Amino acid sequence: MKLMAITAHPDDEAGAFGGALLHYHARGVETSVICLTPGQAATHRGPARSDEELAALRRAEFAASCRILHVDHGEVLDYPDGGLVRADLAAVVGDLTERIRTIRPHVILTMGPEGAVTGHLDHSMASLFATLAYHWAGRRDRFPEQLEAGLEPHRTQKLYYSTAAFTLPERPPVSPPPCSATLAIGPWVEGKIAAFQAHATQAPLWEAFARSMRRFGDKELYHLAAVSAPSVAEAESDLLEGVSV
Ligand SMILES: [Zn+2]
Repeated sequence: MKLMAITAHPDDEAGAFGGALLHYHARGVETSVICLTPGQAATHRGPARSDEELAALRRAEFAASCRILHVDHGEVLDYPDGGLVRADLAAVVGDLTERIRTIRPHVILTMGPEGAVTGHLDHSMASLFATLAYHWAGRRDRFPEQLEAGLEPHRTQKLYYSTAAFTLPERPPVSPPPCSATLAIGPWVEGKIAAFQAHATQAPLWEAFARSMRRFGDKELYHLAAVSAPSVAEAESDLLEGVSV
């Protein structure tokens, strides 16, 4: 069984999906994370003196976080942080489609088009790119050059958006996807915090993240956004429910 998360920035894999990645690794699921940008536009920049230096630091931090989360395949692509809205749609979706056709996950996780609780534009764009890649990876008429190069179409059984049961009053208003799946991650809260803290350049965010995780973070909420077999949505407690190998 394989689970893939598609994210915008180094630290999203820990902050948004850390519980699911640890939970499913513990159940023997092979996990992968594809992150679209190296996070070079971040507000918190550690010792970096340039965008290039910050990108290099954050790639290393992503790798360290993925080790803590036991991610089997972690990859940071090279699209511009803060600039996904201007990225070439076919190029980004093509890159993601190629990863999906290569890795062949059973379930894909990404953020919602609202941009998660922060409403970050890169999160919204990652959601849209990942959604198209989810749908197009299974079709022979999308990116046929990948098929000519030897890849096969791949239909992933489920697509989930991460969601939340709260909004942040100090942020722009967002309309989150309704929760359809509640994943208990109590045993993995400390691991999720540790993975987030592997992002040393983001140290000013550590304390607030750890505090809110320890108070409210024993669940990750998801919205079932697409399925390969038509169905009626029912409340779930397991993202692999109904998924077959
Ligand atoms: Zn982010």
